[in-house]
Amino acid sequence: MLRRLRDPRLIPFKTQTLLLRIAALASELRVPCYLVGGVVRDLLLDRPVHESDIDFVFEGDAIEFGYQLVKACGGKLTAHQKFRTAVWHTPENGDLAPDTVDLITARREVYKCPGALPTVTPAMLMDDLRRRDFPVNAMAIRLGGDDSGELIDPLDGQGDLARKLIRVLHPASFLDDPTRIFRALRYVARYGFTLEAETLRLINAEARAGLAQLSGERLRHEFDVTFEETNPPVTLQQFADFGLLEAIHPALLTAQCGFMPLETPSTHFGEFAVPEILSMRQSLGWIFYLIELNKSDSAALAKRLAFPVALAEAVRFAFILKRDLPSFKDYSPSQWTFYLDEAPPLSIYAVYLISRENALSEYLSKWRHVKPIATGADLKMRGLRPGPHFGEILRRLRAVWLDEIVVNQEQEDRWLDSALNAQK
Ligand code: ATP
Ligand code: MG
Repeated sequence: MLRRLRDPRLIPFKTQTLLLRIAALASELRVPCYLVGGVVRDLLLDRPVHESDIDFVFEGDAIEFGYQLVKACGGKLTAHQKFRTAVWHTPENGDLAPDTVDLITARREVYKCPGALPTVTPAMLMDDLRRRDFPVNAMAIRLGGDDSGELIDPLDGQGDLARKLIRVLHPASFLDDPTRIFRALRYVARYGFTLEAETLRLINAEARAGLAQLSGERLRHEFDVTFEETNPPVTLQQFADFGLLEAIHPALLTAQCGFMPLETPSTHFGEFAVPEILSMRQSLGWIFYLIELNKSDSAALAKRLAFPVALAEAVRFAFILKRDLPSFKDYSPSQWTFYLDEAPPLSIYAVYLISRENALSEYLSKWRHVKPIATGADLKMRGLRPGPHFGEILRRLRAVWLDEIVVNQEQEDRWLDSALNAQK
């Protein structure tokens, strides 16, 4: 494994430095420390590791180790007492990557009832590997000590990688945690693997029934991360084929996954906010996926999947905008603008990507920023008494700017003169 750990194509230099620092401290303190999970799997597949995936497991207290790390290398620690885990915020000088690293105390998990979160107790690495989802995700690399770099693979993850198989560790795995079904299907699509025969059989009615016990946040997360995959439609189709969508909510059966351009928006469109906690790719993924859903289905799903309010709104407006688009064909820029001002820019961008309607792009890049030069204060100076008609005049003035009837200050003054005369 040492060769792979030192390969800059697989692990960026600053992350290698971070691994060396942690390994050195683990040696010094004689704390058994391991790199575990997705990183080990991806290294063995010769795929570059995602920095955010790097988890360290300790046989011993991860929080205590974290404080020693801060002493030795700087940075800050956020400790989570309940599970004895910590997040190390690496020093800001930028020598180490990633910016945050998860430090985990090796643990054993007991599921009291299906779908609920497990009860956790500190344990040895072996217990920690056994609590994981699949053998390919239950391998570790020792860091520090004489055998640093050694691969630990008691559940034959390497065998499964060679056979290209996703296999559960025990028959109750999907009942304990039904999110593992989604995880399995994501790996199948991502790596071109197959579900091992018994695992395939275990995605049955009983396991699907367990989905009803999952919280909205946990379910939504499974889709959020699916939208980050290279080809989400393939995985989403698998979710449908295995009956997962129906089991979550029948409205998902009308969701569509044919259209999913997951590009990042070009700066041409200016800035617009995405709903909290979601990336642009995830937000657009959701909008495209649910854009055909009517109001009541979309509201029901937003509730079941605990959407942030801004996401629910973005999905709802995108549906309305896409539906109404053909009737706006003869609209002037001001008519477009006054209509679109009501919609979240993210919904407009999503519908633009689907329709390539030029007015939507014009709105995002230009029209939404168009404002008259005159303000309320100017109207007051011209002797107009404040009132609701202020807003109306400024709105009409904005319209003539948008429609290019007025293009400079002089024309604006003239327009205001005649508009105010008409008021008298
Ligand atoms: P990905 O590349 O999709 O991020 P990953 O393996 O890094 O894959 P994470 O969701 O980041 O997956 O989780 C990290 C590790 O935690 C996994 O490799 C696995 O060992 C363990 N794990 C995560 N979720 C579960 C789960 N639901 N049940 C059991 N183990 C899990
Ligand atoms: Mg990960």
